[in-house]
Amino acid sequence: MADGALPGAEALAEVLADVRRYLGWHRDVAGEELHASSDGALAAIAAAVTVEVTVEGSSTPPVVVEYREVSAEVSSAPPTPGPSIPREPPLAQGSAEPPRLDEVRRALGDCKRCKLCSGRKNLVFGVGNPKARLVFVGEGPGAEEDNQGIPFVGAAGQLLTKMIAAMGYSRDEVYICNVVKCRPPGNRNPEPDEIEACQPFLEAQLNAIRPSVIIALGKFAAQTLLRSDTPITRLRGQWREYVGIPLMPTFHPAYLLRNPAEKKPAWTDLQAVMARFPKPAP
Ligand code: URA
Repeated sequence: MADGALPGAEALAEVLADVRRYLGWHRDVAGEELHASSDGALAAIAAAVTVEVTVEGSSTPPVVVEYREVSAEVSSAPPTPGPSIPREPPLAQGSAEPPRLDEVRRALGDCKRCKLCSGRKNLVFGVGNPKARLVFVGEGPGAEEDNQGIPFVGAAGQLLTKMIAAMGYSRDEVYICNVVKCRPPGNRNPEPDEIEACQPFLEAQLNAIRPSVIIALGKFAAQTLLRSDTPITRLRGQWREYVGIPLMPTFHPAYLLRNPAEKKPAWTDLQAVMARFPKPAP
């Protein structure tokens, strides 16, 4: 804090930054149309923000500051870049109707929220049934996925397709997406700022689909959705929850291609999913 600044000013700035980030997320994920149509609700949120500012060392009672200008200020602001997108899961945002999957795609647009955009051929949003009971979340597109704009179509994808078939489903019946939607150069791991920029859209996808169960494929999917840094070797095979949705972490198919002996425990994980969520009879 700068010398002479009110001690409460910093807290006020933080609260206002939080509100601004929330409103920024709403526009990004819900899309401009929904954002505009909910102006009234947003204004109410903005009007509800009050902060107590106390002058250090003063006997004056705290001053309650009400902040009323947030929605006007945010609606005229340019789109918020990646790092300022908040990490709150869309499912936890309250009573608003979840966006539909096509609205999430529209909100993502020709995304330039992180540096991965500069190397991509195609943004790889997701594929499958928008009402799927079963969603698979991978890490990020590889070369073939980048070429085709479809997740899991390369070598790891072929194994995933077999895993899905072994569970009694076709690819059309489930939904498949990734933590990051653009290919990391040279298939390197996605970096934290890239994951952070994409995470609201992954969460909005899951919120739109509201599956019965999520299978997190590998470290990045499991750690991102669970906000955990526990290694995948410890997470796998243990039921967890992502905002109330049962989530099973398991090994990534690319890892299974390199370590075929791990296919057995991975199959056990998939069997646990099938046992808890048997496929309904047609
Ligand atoms: N690996 C992933 O994590 N996702 C893909 O789409 C392809 C390979």
